[in-house]
Amino acid sequence: MRSVKSKDTAPELVVRRLVFAMGVRYRLHTRTLAGSPDLVLRRRNRVVFVNGCFWHGHDCRRGSRQPKTNAPYWRAKIDNNRDRDKRNILLLEGDGWKVLTIWECETKDVSTLSMTLRRFLADEESIR
Ligand SMILES: [Zn+2]
Repeated sequence: MRSVKSKDTAPELVVRRLVFAMGVRYRLHTRTLAGSPDLVLRRRNRVVFVNGCFWHGHDCRRGSRQPKTNAPYWRAKIDNNRDRDKRNILLLEGDGWKVLTIWECETKDVSTLSMTLRRFLADEESIR
């Protein structure tokens, strides 16, 4: 089990490819923002997090998988990640960002994911 959150994970690449195909420009891992969001669409005031189901404690099969060893250790670590994720989203929203969290398991269904992203990114057009 890897203990370090790696950049450029496969789910992240799926999301990036879709957003790029929509002709939307973004930055990656902006460290000046809470939680260094995976994609930052500054002009649209939007950020996207792509979360691994296990590490971020998603409520899906993969996310609720129990590690065979050191279960309490992992549990605490994952609970921590979840709390931090929530805090970061609140901070970002407080600063006027719209936040979308994409879960790793959602990147398996590209057409649904593509619709979700499109909807999230399109909102802006109706504001202007
Ligand atoms: Zn999941």
